[in-house]
Amino acid sequence: MPQTQFEKIWDAHVIESRPDGQTLLYVDRHLLHEGSFHGFEYLDQRDMPVRRPGQSFAVADHYIPTTSRNLADTEDDVARSLITRLEANAAKHGVSHFGIDSESQGIVHVIGPEQGITLPGLLIVCGDSHTATHGALGAYAFGIGASEVTHVLATQTLWQMKPKAMRISVDGARPAGVTGKDVILAIIAQISAAGATGHAVEFAGSLIRDLSMEERMTVCNMTIEAGGRAGMIAPDEKTFAYIKGRRYAPDGEDWDKALAAWLALPSDEGAVFDAEVTLDGTAIRPMLTWGTSPEQAAALADTVPDPANAPNAEKAEEWRDALDYIGLTAGQHFRDVAVDKVFIGSCTNSRIEDLRAAAAVLKGRQVQVKQALVSPGSFLVKKQAEAEGLDRIFKEAGFEWRESGCSMCVGMNGDLAERGERVASTSNRNFRGRQGQGVRTHLVSPASAAAAAITGHFADPRDFA
Ligand code: SF4
Repeated sequence: MPQTQFEKIWDAHVIESRPDGQTLLYVDRHLLHEGSFHGFEYLDQRDMPVRRPGQSFAVADHYIPTTSRNLADTEDDVARSLITRLEANAAKHGVSHFGIDSESQGIVHVIGPEQGITLPGLLIVCGDSHTATHGALGAYAFGIGASEVTHVLATQTLWQMKPKAMRISVDGARPAGVTGKDVILAIIAQISAAGATGHAVEFAGSLIRDLSMEERMTVCNMTIEAGGRAGMIAPDEKTFAYIKGRRYAPDGEDWDKALAAWLALPSDEGAVFDAEVTLDGTAIRPMLTWGTSPEQAAALADTVPDPANAPNAEKAEEWRDALDYIGLTAGQHFRDVAVDKVFIGSCTNSRIEDLRAAAAVLKGRQVQVKQALVSPGSFLVKKQAEAEGLDRIFKEAGFEWRESGCSMCVGMNGDLAERGERVASTSNRNFRGRQGQGVRTHLVSPASAAAAAITGHFADPRDFA
């Protein structure tokens, strides 16, 4: 029987299936951040070891300050305690740890691929919703809850119900100026924030294949915003070139063996998906979210939608609520909407290509907003950007050039906006209060965020290419 990529990976990890549909799966990689302390506490109370410490990797990202790499500089006692606890737990249990001063530190979903920890065909989990990012390399990767983190630490396995398989195909030549972020926002706008619920999603089609590895990570990262359990893309030559030579990637004979296995991963011709969605890639334009759900997205060149045109009464009510919170009026041109702050960062858009795209718009121009902040996704991304002189472009334009971390994506480290402020953000969630109580978040690509920064309002980045 022809199989989907998801089924191949799932089948390869099954240890045992129960009559109630629960399946025990083997976990290849467990990524840990500050929130994992409950799991370590559980082990310590029972004097248990981590089952496979060599397959677990810990990094501080959510609470880490972005103003300094010296933990003593932060006044946040909770953050300091969580970061030091992670380090102590990792040391005690023999887990690889990328500390605040490590060259391997960064957002967990940036460093996994960057370090070669993320590989095609692996089953990867992390106590974080955006673990789907790793599917861009052909892995089956998903976020897990605190009790599941404990289970994986103790057993290197996990009980799961098998999700259904969905394929989202985006075909056609990519219009100039359209990025991976615009593609995933267009997908979610079409299928809704619940459109992929209960499914492992495979992104396919000529436009998806045309995306760079980093853009593929952006697309898979936001699968969860459409309700998907996981997102994945078939590994190809781009994937293999990206992986080769990375710190934890196989080499020598191991590389040849791994490559042979990876080449067999893509979905077979004739494989059947439980659901199929298609999008015309040629119709996608630079996008932004205008409401409080990622599905409330439109082209930057358009106007604020009218709830009177919503598909049904329930949606019309949601749209009205969202517009009320976000402070926009139906029919307003997005280019007339003033922006207070700009954030470039997060596991969605903080990789080197993202910084290059933003810098290309910023070069020789000046920020026209109250605050513009960039937090590279990892130490290595920051180092690479500095080697290319991108930091100078950001700083000369008026951006704050910060250290790596989750930063204003969620604000756990204190990087927050103020009530009523409007933020153009390259992150993945625009829920109420995500970037601070009463803050109005609009999700955009890095180039669009830069365009907003230099104009003081939303703008089509293609006007600054
Ligand atoms: S950058 Fe944001 S979405 Fe990504 S792991 Fe950090 S808090 Fe989560």
